[in-house]
Parts: sequence; structure tokens; C-alpha cells
Amino acid sequence: MRLTRSFYRTFKEVPKDAQISSHQLMFRTGMIQQLASGIYSYLPLALRSLRKIETIIRDELNQRGCEEVLMPAVLPAALWQESGRWNAYGDLLLRFQDRKGSDYCMGPTHEEAFTDMVRRHLSSWKQLPWNLYQIQDKFRDEFRPRFGLMRGREFIMKDAYSFDLDEQAAAKSYRLMYEAYSAIFTRCGLKFRAVDAAAGEIGGSMSHEFQVLASSGEDVLLSCTSCSYAVNIEKAAVLQKPNPPDKTQFKDMEIVETPGQKTIEEVSQFLGVQPEKFLKSLVYEADSRLVLVLIAGNLDVNEVKLQAVLNASALRLAAPEKVKEAIGAEPGFIGPVNLPPNINIIADFSASSGENWISGANQNDKHTVNINPERDFQVSEFADITFAAAGDTCPECKEGQMEEFRGIEVGHVFYLGTKYSQAMNCLYLDEEGNSKPVEMGCYGIGIGRTMAAAIEQNHDENGIIWPVPLAPWEAIVLPLQMNNETVTAAAEKVYIDLTQAGIETVLDDRNERPGFKFKDADLIGYPVQITLGARSAAEGKAEIKFRASGEKTELPLDDAVNYIIQWIEDKRQTA
Ligand code: ATP
Ligand code: MG
Repeated sequence: MRLTRSFYRTFKEVPKDAQISSHQLMFRTGMIQQLASGIYSYLPLALRSLRKIETIIRDELNQRGCEEVLMPAVLPAALWQESGRWNAYGDLLLRFQDRKGSDYCMGPTHEEAFTDMVRRHLSSWKQLPWNLYQIQDKFRDEFRPRFGLMRGREFIMKDAYSFDLDEQAAAKSYRLMYEAYSAIFTRCGLKFRAVDAAAGEIGGSMSHEFQVLASSGEDVLLSCTSCSYAVNIEKAAVLQKPNPPDKTQFKDMEIVETPGQKTIEEVSQFLGVQPEKFLKSLVYEADSRLVLVLIAGNLDVNEVKLQAVLNASALRLAAPEKVKEAIGAEPGFIGPVNLPPNINIIADFSASSGENWISGANQNDKHTVNINPERDFQVSEFADITFAAAGDTCPECKEGQMEEFRGIEVGHVFYLGTKYSQAMNCLYLDEEGNSKPVEMGCYGIGIGRTMAAAIEQNHDENGIIWPVPLAPWEAIVLPLQMNNETVTAAAEKVYIDLTQAGIETVLDDRNERPGFKFKDADLIGYPVQITLGARSAAEGKAEIKFRASGEKTELPLDDAVNYIIQWIEDKRQTA
């Protein structure tokens, strides 16, 4: 590609909302353009890199017996009603009607569509296993689209679905995909980690996220210093240190005046008592019922865990008006004693140790002191609904300590069981002629997010440092004086030789100053730059610079070409 003919432009300024490096760099290199919030066009440089990620994915999946299909992006509501997700999926689902008034959505994920495709094909146990995938645009009406391609509304996803006879076979498919994902991200040249993402229980869990390591990552992860366990903090179990209450220490319950003191900090200062003696009392709306959630005052509620414990498809803090209407007091004065009987209490395990707690009195400007579960109120369930933290004991080996790191979730593998096959009658006849629901797994990779994560992990103050396997172009030839024929002829020769040898090469044939060309080359991050100046060209030499190490060497033209071919071929990491 000659830059004078390329649909190419770089930018100095970045839009205000581009907060993280990958977004800024994708904008500055002209890789993407925003058409609407979270909706982007992929320009030539971006598309070349995206296609490379797709090629690696196809290659690794096809090798493992997966088959590619392509489903529509527009899906009929009927399928989503069958699975129960038409309502449950909430505001992320973009719903609309056609001219006849029939309901449709833009697919945010395709479990329903694949289950439907398979149930029409499937009759006998002899046909399984199947593993189908597609690479396709998804749409999720994200609440806060941000960070460019990292969290878009329309984005390219590879989604795969496995269909097996039984749990054992499904576990095998899961492992196969786990291995495929490890191979894919290794071949992309990324530093990544697979972390446990199963809600609740530990060990033998069947959900993992593939996280690209990056300090700007949105996900907080914990890994053990002594065993290989790593987990998303949203899901990390907290080991309990049981300290059952000592009933002989129970004091008489009392109501105290706390005028205007709503937060735990305020009441704690006002009464001169440490926050950990408080039972933080929060009213949540889980689907359509209200629950009171209790947790020690120094801890926070982990809503991912809470939602799993409540088995709710939607969960949010109840609005203050709702709390007032149901309980008769404002949120700062809520507590478990004398609660209306239709509101269940769920408590974190932290609330089951120690005695004589303080909480709101369910009357404005009043708190109750010396309250104790069982004696003063009934908890329907104690559960682990708080956050693990760095320094905690590893919940897996129970020896090491957890340390914190950050990552970007680029892939997710998930064991589904028979959730969709049962709801949608995706059945087969076993050897005895019994009808059984098929066992499923689903497996996603965000292609655009993977590209963004690669940039996030590999850049410096001058621009992108592409891992070779994902680089839009592998090399750039920089003739420094376009009016010097020795220079242009040498550049042309290097350009043609590299291109003919299969190296994806760009020729910067623009009539621009050397500094300008170098800046652009560093910004776009071509792994190899070949510079031809008046002196080196006259001597029949070229200077090679490697973007990642900054290393430079000068070699005779032919040697330079051969050296680059060898170097690139080594770094491509083809299977
Ligand atoms: P997140 O927690 O980041 O919202 P998710 O867990 O909802 O993601 P999955 O349903 O597991 O996402 O989707 C599979 C993959 O699709 C993710 O691992 C991610 O790489 C990608 N992905 C999901 N949402 C987006 C988005 N809004 N923009 C770009 N990629 C996305
Ligand atoms: Mg996920």
C-alpha cells in the first residue's frame, strides 16, 4: 500500500470522551470513526487488525471441529419469549417493531437463535456433539457506552455454542473451548489470564473469563500467591471466620435519638461507635419484591453475588419513596427490627458473628442499639454477599494470600446446562428412546474489544506497539527525500521485495519531512520501520528500526530485506 493512495489520516487532537489510551490512539491513527454513541465505523487500519483476530479464531476453532454459520442480527421476539429473556434481559435489549407491528430485537447474544437452529436439526443421540459458531455484529444498548470499542453498543463478537448428550460430554466441550481460547489469545501475542467467573461455589466451576492484563482494565481480579487460582472480584468467595454470638453478652435493646444522622459515618461519629458495630440495612428491589439486606457497617454489598443468591433477573436499590412507603422511614433510618412481615431479610455472613449491633429503627431520626439476630429479628438467609479483597486468604487452597490485578474481559466461556434446551424444547432421543434436553455451553470473544485491549496493553507515549500477529501492516518503508532518485529507487525496491515475499508492507511515498514520517510511523506502530536516507541509500544500505524495542541496525539492502522477512515470519505465531 502506498500512503499517497491510501484512505489515511492521522490526528493530533483527541475527542474529550476518549479517556483511555486505546481509544485515543484508535482515534488519532484514524482507525475508527464514531457515527453515534457507541456505534463505530472501522476504517482500513482497524479492519485489517480485526480480520487478523478473526482469522486466528477461525483457525483455532476449525481445528477443533467447530463449524461456522452466520445468523441474522435481527431476531424475532417469539424466540426470546420462549426462553423468558424478552423481559428479563432488560434495557440492554434493543426492541422494535416492523410495519405489521411484530416485535423484534437486535441480537445481543444468540443462545435462543442457536437453540432454535439446533432443535430443528436434532432428533437422535447419534448426531451429537455439535459445536457451532459465528462472527457477527451484536447490539447491546449499554447504559454508558465508553472507551471506544471497549464498550460499544454495536460490536463484533465471535459467539459459539456447544450441544452435548450429557454433563460429562458438555464438560469436555467446555475444556476444548477453554484450550482454544488460551491458544487464540496466545497467538494474538497478548498477556492474559483465565479467571474463575462462576457465581458462588469454588472448584470445578464452569465459567471462566479471559482477561487481558492492563492497569486501565475495568475488571478487578484476584490471584493467589501460592496456588494457580485467579478469580474476578465480583465472584470471589470470602472465607468466613466464624465467631458465633455469645448470648451471655446480649444487652437490652434500646431506641436512641439520632436527629439528621443518616449515614453510617455520621451515626458512628454521633454515637462514638465504630462502623463495624453497625448493621448496614439496605432495601433492594429484586424483580418486583422488596428485600432488606444486612451487612457489617464496614463492608459493601456485592450486587452480583446478591443477585445470584436471590435468583433474581433484575436487582436494584429501592427508590427512597418506595422505601418510605413500605417501611415508613427514610433509607438512613432503616433496620431489621419491626419490619413489615412481607419484607424478607437476607444477611451477609458478617452479620452472624458478634453481638449487640446498631441499625436504623424504622422511624426517622432514630436508631436501635443492642440488636441481635434471632432474639430481635429473623434472617431468612445468611449468605456470602460481600467483596473479597487483596490480602484475603485464598478460598481455593486456603493457604496463599490474594493479590489484586486489573484486566479487560475479552472472552468468556460458560457452561449453560439445560437452561435453554429445556425452556425451548431442544431435545433428542437417547439410545433407549427417551426424550432428553441437550446440554449446552456458550463461548464469546469480543473482537473489537480484543483489538482495543491489545493497544491498551502495548503502547507508549509515541503510539501503538502492535504485537506482530495483530498489526494492520507488518512493515513500513520510509524514503526520507522524495526528490532524491537513489532514495526513491531503493525504497521502491525494498517495498516490492518485501511485498513479494508476503510481508504486509506500506510505502510512505508522501512528500513530507522525515520527522513527520517518523512520528506517523511510531503512532501507527508498524512493527518494523525501514528508513532510506540520502547517505544510506548512496551506500546501498537501509536502516531498520523495531518499534517494540527501539533497536536500530543498518544493513545492505538485500540483507535488510532478508532479515526483516525472517524476523516477521518468526513473530507471526502461526499455528
Ligand atoms: P461486560 O461484563 O464487559 O459487560 P459481558 O460479560 O456482558 O461483558 P459477555 O456476554 O460475556 O459480555 O460477551 C462476550 C464477550 O463480548 C465479552 O467477553 C466481551 O469481549 C465482548 N463484549 C461484551 N459487551 C461488549 C461491548 N459492549 N462492547 C464490546 N465488546 C463487548
Ligand atoms: Mg462476560
